[in-house]
Amino acid sequence: MRIGIAVLLATLAPTIAAGQSVQVSWHAGTPRQGTFAYVVVAGNPTPVVARGTLDSLPLAFVRAPGGQLAALAVVPLGATDSVTVALVLDFAKGRTRQIVRRLPVARARFPTERLSVDPRFTRPPDSALQARIARENARARRVTEAALATPRLWSREFVRPRPTRVTSVFGIGRVFNGRVQSRHLGTDYQGETGDPVRATNRGIVELIGDFYYAGRIVYLNHGAGLVTAYLHLSEVLVAEGDTVQAGQLLGRVGASGRVTGPHLHWMVRIGRSSADGASLLALPPLERLFDQ
Ligand SMILES: [Zn+2]
Repeated sequence: MRIGIAVLLATLAPTIAAGQSVQVSWHAGTPRQGTFAYVVVAGNPTPVVARGTLDSLPLAFVRAPGGQLAALAVVPLGATDSVTVALVLDFAKGRTRQIVRRLPVARARFPTERLSVDPRFTRPPDSALQARIARENARARRVTEAALATPRLWSREFVRPRPTRVTSVFGIGRVFNGRVQSRHLGTDYQGETGDPVRATNRGIVELIGDFYYAGRIVYLNHGAGLVTAYLHLSEVLVAEGDTVQAGQLLGRVGASGRVTGPHLHWMVRIGRSSADGASLLALPPLERLFDQ
């Protein structure tokens, strides 16, 4: 039986000291659906440690010299007008407090691409292909599980996987023959076959493969639930189990998998929620969030 949060709160109520105020907020304004943002916890007294989740996705907090706590969060694409932050806060002298707060979310407006294709491209795959795709999806999901079980490995700035322009943004809807078939859950960077593809932060090479849709791939486990993936490569230059640093060469741009031409598709997710990698690149480093 699962213990509800209300029951937990009731059980822990005697440990909550009167007059303690805790603020939970976004770091810089209300974020949009499908983006990355920082959750900040402050209070008087300041909690020493915080653990928790945002819509069931993990939050790994870092403590700033000023005492504030901050964690990288993903705002799920499917979030409505708010998300639920559930935290366990540890204070000095062994006191613990659990809190649940709602934080607002802004609606994202995604552009739509209308494409007319031969109807056979919009039919579902046959059973043999479905089985292959299911196996590949299962392997990708295991990377997510590994990242959720790994402490945070990334730090400082995230760097771009390619220095080139973005050719297709995150979230764009693809309408084939008048029906929405898919949403673009990554960021496409321009590149010719053989151009370098680089790790966007420190992590472990968790998965290398040659997948039906994604082609030759590298998945990095950055810990604290965070995964980045690099798709359609022509060549992979790392091995499973390698630890790579931000900016390290992972492989080369290609046109493997189901693509119309060479480019890099870069994907970022926390847990099973993909979000806009461009919003992650735009964030200040977690370690310097409160420097002014
Ligand atoms: Zn793409």
